[in-house]
Amino acid sequence: MYAIALVAAVAIFVPGPRSPWWEILFQVPIGPSCGAAILVGIRGLPRAERVPWWFLTAAVLCTCTAPLPDQLGTDWFPGDGPDIADYLFLAFYPLMATGLTLMLRTLHRRTDWAALVDALTVTVGIGLLAWVYAIEPAWRDSAGGSPLSRLVTVAYPVADLALLALTILLLRSSGRRAPFWIGVSLGGYLTGDCAWVLLFTLNSDWGQLWWTGRLINALYMLSLLVLALAAARPDFRDHGTGAAAVSRLSLPQLTLLTGAVLISPVLLVAQDIAGRVEDAIAIAIGSAIMFLLVVTRMAQLLKQAERQQQAVHELSRRDELTGLPNRRAWTDELPRILERARADHTPVAIAMIDLDRFKLFNDRYGHPAGDRLLKEATAAWHSALRRSDVLARYGGEEFIAVLPGVDVSQAIVVLERLRLVTPQDQTFSAGVATWDGTETSDQLIARADLALYAAKNAGRDRICDAAALPTARL
Ligand code: GH3
Ligand code: MG
Ligand code: MG
Repeated sequence: MYAIALVAAVAIFVPGPRSPWWEILFQVPIGPSCGAAILVGIRGLPRAERVPWWFLTAAVLCTCTAPLPDQLGTDWFPGDGPDIADYLFLAFYPLMATGLTLMLRTLHRRTDWAALVDALTVTVGIGLLAWVYAIEPAWRDSAGGSPLSRLVTVAYPVADLALLALTILLLRSSGRRAPFWIGVSLGGYLTGDCAWVLLFTLNSDWGQLWWTGRLINALYMLSLLVLALAAARPDFRDHGTGAAAVSRLSLPQLTLLTGAVLISPVLLVAQDIAGRVEDAIAIAIGSAIMFLLVVTRMAQLLKQAERQQQAVHELSRRDELTGLPNRRAWTDELPRILERARADHTPVAIAMIDLDRFKLFNDRYGHPAGDRLLKEATAAWHSALRRSDVLARYGGEEFIAVLPGVDVSQAIVVLERLRLVTPQDQTFSAGVATWDGTETSDQLIARADLALYAAKNAGRDRICDAAALPTARL
């Protein structure tokens, strides 16, 4: 209803008579109405999420009331300095910034450094443009005024830039609940501000261009509507991009960053072509900051790549269900253990362990119960082994234990211990083989496998030594 009313109001406002009172009539009531819509919209939210919106509401009230004293002719601060309207307009920025910062804090516990660097990169690029075309000229033009009025003049573009950085952070923030539409609303507001600056620098013939100003005011109104909607509707408020990777760089983002980085060289060339490079120092400083930001971003991406590589490496070597090293990790590890044993002249025993009639267990109790048993059994075995022993998942319900420094009789003692701790009366069969000092890891595994096969054939629930098998079978 509020959206319909406001859109209708904008439709009436735009073609209306050319009078400051007409503008006031529409602009000033928008503040309280938008504030009320926000406060109604956030009613059900937890307090921590409402607080940022209070600041946003206050900001909206300030900026909407600002034109009123100007129009009433109330000059509370006589002299050439800033007027009450300036303070109301300017109060918008810190209030908004506080609200947005609080909002980002409640949504994302940790600072998204990559997003921050991106936001700074774009802000520095546009900041350079703002410096050259708005801030520095405004500072120069106001040379005759009091220091305070000069400060207020440049405070607008500077505050706009700070707000721009926060807006990009909001739009860029990834997560379940990105406040995307607040970013859109602020984007509209900032576009309006930029349009004002352009309007004044390009053409000061206000008589011809008053209708452009009216369109800009309509844009402000619609931005406030989006803000009210963002507060009132959960589908606007929680418009998230899903749990996106923290430092994802989409093509539009990359394009935006590239554009921002190229601003300073383009500016330099433009000034050179125009005949005089007036802002060499500003351009140099802007470029230097840009380089530092790009290098920082590069370092962040490299670090992220390293972390991901590490994570993939670990995932690829770990069995998901039991958390044990998987067959791949194990196939790498065994030759290394044999190599060490060769150097130290110590024995190595390996055991292939296979749960007995596990298919039956699954059929009887269900697959999830089977999974649980696998986890419990491996945890029990793992704690019954020494730290130097390796237990790995070889396949389905088959495991392999490597026992460095252990001969066959000791290995059988260890395996008997494992049999005792196996949970839920489950039994296993195992084949043990000790390394002969020359064979390859594959040959060693093959012998242990044959011993396991023999243990199964002999009736299961037992341990069989490969050395005890008739050699013909090898
Ligand atoms: P045997 O005593 O001859 O080893 O009989 P078995 O039933 O244990 O052996 P078989 O190779 O016939 O079946 C192995 C079963 O292990 C088949 C499969 O259902 C079960 N299994 C393999 N991996 C998993 C797993 O990750 N979870 C569960 N729940 N069961 C698994
Ligand atoms: Mg089995
Ligand atoms: Mg099996």
